[in-house]
Amino acid sequence: MSKTAYSEQEVNITNCDREPIHIIGKAQEHGVIVVCDLNSFNVSQCSENIENILGISHTEVLGKPLKQVLSKKVAKSFKKKFKNEDSLLPEKLKIGEQKFLCIPSISGEHLIIDVEPSGKSLDPVHFQEQLTKILTELDESESVNDMCQQAALLVKHLFDYDRIMIYKFDEEWNGEVVAEVKEPELDSWLGLHYPATDIPKPAREIFMKQGVRIISDVNYRASPINPEISPVTGRPLDISTSELRAVSPIHIEYLQNMKVGASLTAAIVLNGELWGLVACHHYSPKFINYHQRQSCLFLTQVFSNKLALKTTKTFLENTSKSDEVRKKLVLQITSIRSIEDALYRFDPKFTDLIECSGGALVMDGEIYLSGETPKKAELRQLCDEFLAEKEVYFSTKSLSAVYPKAAAFKNIASGILSVQISEQDANYIMWFRPEAKETVNWGGNPEKNGFVKDGIEYLTPRKSFERWTEKKNGVAKPWQDYDLEAVSSLRESIVHILVKQQKDKIDSLNGQLVEANKELETFSYSVSHDLRAPLRGIDGYARILKDHYMDRLDDYSQKAVNTIVRSASEMDTLIDDILSYSRVGQTDLAKQVLSMRQIVENALDAQNVTSNYPNTIIKLEEKLPKIVGDRRMIAQLVNNLISNALKYSGKKEQPVVEIGYYRKNDQTTYFIKDNGVGFDPKHKNKIFEVFSRVATEDFKGSGIGLSIAKKVVDKHKGELWVETTPGEGSCFYFSLPDIEE
Ligand code: ADP
Repeated sequence: MSKTAYSEQEVNITNCDREPIHIIGKAQEHGVIVVCDLNSFNVSQCSENIENILGISHTEVLGKPLKQVLSKKVAKSFKKKFKNEDSLLPEKLKIGEQKFLCIPSISGEHLIIDVEPSGKSLDPVHFQEQLTKILTELDESESVNDMCQQAALLVKHLFDYDRIMIYKFDEEWNGEVVAEVKEPELDSWLGLHYPATDIPKPAREIFMKQGVRIISDVNYRASPINPEISPVTGRPLDISTSELRAVSPIHIEYLQNMKVGASLTAAIVLNGELWGLVACHHYSPKFINYHQRQSCLFLTQVFSNKLALKTTKTFLENTSKSDEVRKKLVLQITSIRSIEDALYRFDPKFTDLIECSGGALVMDGEIYLSGETPKKAELRQLCDEFLAEKEVYFSTKSLSAVYPKAAAFKNIASGILSVQISEQDANYIMWFRPEAKETVNWGGNPEKNGFVKDGIEYLTPRKSFERWTEKKNGVAKPWQDYDLEAVSSLRESIVHILVKQQKDKIDSLNGQLVEANKELETFSYSVSHDLRAPLRGIDGYARILKDHYMDRLDDYSQKAVNTIVRSASEMDTLIDDILSYSRVGQTDLAKQVLSMRQIVENALDAQNVTSNYPNTIIKLEEKLPKIVGDRRMIAQLVNNLISNALKYSGKKEQPVVEIGYYRKNDQTTYFIKDNGVGFDPKHKNKIFEVFSRVATEDFKGSGIGLSIAKKVVDKHKGELWVETTPGEGSCFYFSLPDIEE
């Protein structure tokens, strides 16, 4: 960015969040920024105030080796440490009677050296004493605010700024002064809030990186780094690592408006996030040296760690409290089985899980309320129009800000935390918090913090820092991380229970099904068995009629007797088939190695091929491999397939039935192929069901044969399938596992 571009921005700052403060290109007045090229160790850039501070003219410095500008010793040490990849540490420099400290940092291909007065250092013994004292006091502090107050006291004691504040960010980056120690004549700013725009994002990022930052004189004249563009890279130099770098003009104006003369800021970082700042103001210029700043950094880190411990403790205490409630709720759910009853009819209720004023359960279209809540219709609308679009978890302290209809019930539920139980259903559990009856004290009116011109929002630092009181509107006490944790654990438990209940249900249904199947098999077996006796009676008497009384009967009666005899025989076959079908289900497998060839030959014999199918050519594979299975069942399987092949090809001019096998992937597949009527392949699966027939009436049958075959193969954990073409024939395949169990 060119100089003009930056100064244009100085007048036209449209957005602090984009202010390029890392390439600000200027140094504060109390020290010199010397930049050198890491390849040559020659000075490539330098702030123009070098003459005032080190007494060398700026034009003489550029391009010179570092050792000629600073001292040989300093340059040599930096060079050596850089080459050995050691960490660079500050070096002392003496010019005449003046003592300086050279503080190095690396930025890309540059070594940036802040040369600043060495100043007075803290007495290490005093520092240690103070630190020990504060550590004990921090440990004894009851609350986070107490801790902050102790920390502020220590900083005041050690560095003696006029005002020390501990400034805490909220979730929207607004800040609040939570602790303050000050000179008596100053107004107190304790409890004041400052809008997020007062410390914009780039400044927050640099705080995180740098830790401690001072402005020694707010009314200084920044000294430009010349040349502004790095001759090494041809780009503006990133000087965010320099502690001497000049301050954003907006921030200077901001401090000037507060009449502040010097400042120190240290970042309080908790679990990797900026929690707040130690902000020190002095009402005249004030410089504290590098070592003091390091002490301040160390102190802030100790404080941050203590704070992290404290907040973790609070988190754990709250989590364990809600965990107790959660466990009881889970117990209720498992014993009662109706989630809504378990959650809200007994003690504890779901609303006891976290701090809230009421809650609602939305379950399968019903709404159950507990405590202070919006009306059912309002909640229904909230679910349909708003929550349905949200993630599983949703929480806000100001619902009306994101869902305007919530303004109607803001006194009851400005804060809402909701969780969707399962992603498939619109079932929610919600907790509410009412509008907080608090007021916020702002340092100046936060809204009068800018102006709009031509539709662009221009931010300017506020002029007035008078206490400005605002009544909170539609904002509840914020939800904490431990609230969210408790809710998420409850949801996990519920989901777990639901999954388990569903599994139990499926298991029990499965059991019932197996039972029913067994009963059915037993039933059909006994029915078929019991039908045998009366059938024998019918058949026997019909045959007596036929054999001895036929000549006494008229034509019609003779036909009737013949039909009875034929039907009885068909019914006998049917009963046989049903009996064998249920027997397959009931008998255990007695596996053995069987000769497939023998089984096939027996089946052909049983069909009496020579007399029943004299035209049929049988092609039987000579060396059929052995098969492992239950002798009776395999015989039944082969029998059924062969009898079908003979039957459904029997009406062809030249029927051919082929019995063979093939091997693939170490697996034997047997097949029985015919050139008979075939059938529509869409029935390929259906034909294996009981009583399912697709053949025409020309072919007699019960529709049970293939279902027996299928059951046999299933029992052996094998496979059975068919390929068929109508009018051309079918081929049935089966394969069984080779292993004998
Ligand atoms: P069915 O007693 O009717 O033969 P199956 O259960 O043995 O009973 O066979 C079911 C149906 O499958 C038969 O009705 C027939 O439509 C068809 N089917 C079975 N085997 C063959 C085959 N080899 N060729 C053509 N269709 C067949």
